[in-house]
Amino acid sequence: MSKGFIEIQNLQKVFSTPTGQFVALQDIDLQLDKGQFVTVVGKSGSGKSTFMNMLTGIDRPTSGKVLVNDIDIHALEESKMAEWRGINLGIVFQFYQLLPVMNLYENVKLPMQIAQRYSLKEQNERTMELLELVGLAEYAFKRPNRVSGGQQQSAAIARALANDPPIMMADEPTGNLGAEEASAVIRIFEKLAQQGKTIVMITHDDELAAHGERTIRLKDGLVVEDRMKPKKRNGKRNWFSFSKRDQNGKK
Ligand code: ADP
Ligand code: MG
Repeated sequence: MSKGFIEIQNLQKVFSTPTGQFVALQDIDLQLDKGQFVTVVGKSGSGKSTFMNMLTGIDRPTSGKVLVNDIDIHALEESKMAEWRGINLGIVFQFYQLLPVMNLYENVKLPMQIAQRYSLKEQNERTMELLELVGLAEYAFKRPNRVSGGQQQSAAIARALANDPPIMMADEPTGNLGAEEASAVIRIFEKLAQQGKTIVMITHDDELAAHGERTIRLKDGLVVEDRMKPKKRNGKRNWFSFSKRDQNGKK
């Protein structure tokens, strides 16, 4: 039995390069809880994307394990891995990767049409619900190039949620967005975490990373910091004490 919902054990990734072996992840041990909003932060080249590719199964570790809900994902063969990923993970990238010939509605619905977990009626209802959740109901029938970058990313998040995966993983989802659009995207992840999704969001931006309940900092392929925010009380998060002072001071 593993201790965490996502359990990372002695994870190491070494790349062979023309100039020799390069250790991108040194030795990572982490346990992530269910429903946690985790941000992974670090400078460019610190190993964030490599780390995420180990969690999504997009790439295989050199050694070590990733257990998700007690399933050793790297012990799965390729076809089983793809199946597992389809059910368990919603993945979001920096460049939204929406299909340009489809409108947002069709983009969000597509994974449901492929997986066939829902009836046609459910697929249609769910597509609109997801577009509403990310604030795009009125843009449903526009093509990606007719909406802003932030709206495209919101649609990509809705698409990642199509088959209701318990885990969302995002690699620099705000990397291509301005500050305001980035905040809107972060708010969606916060909302999803409140609904019980487990979120792993990668960013190089300290300020955005601070939105996570837990922030893990990578440097040279090692965890150099692992910070947890206080638990929610009465359904409300007990934020840093300075926000309390701020409220009292202003009013
Ligand atoms: P980040 O996402 O934090 O910017 P990456 O995980 O993409 O960092 O990369 C970490 C390090 O591993 C970098 O030095 C990068 O050059 C190296 N790296 C990543 N992928 C490969 C690869 N396929 N082959 C060789 N080196 C790689
Ligand atoms: Mg990266």
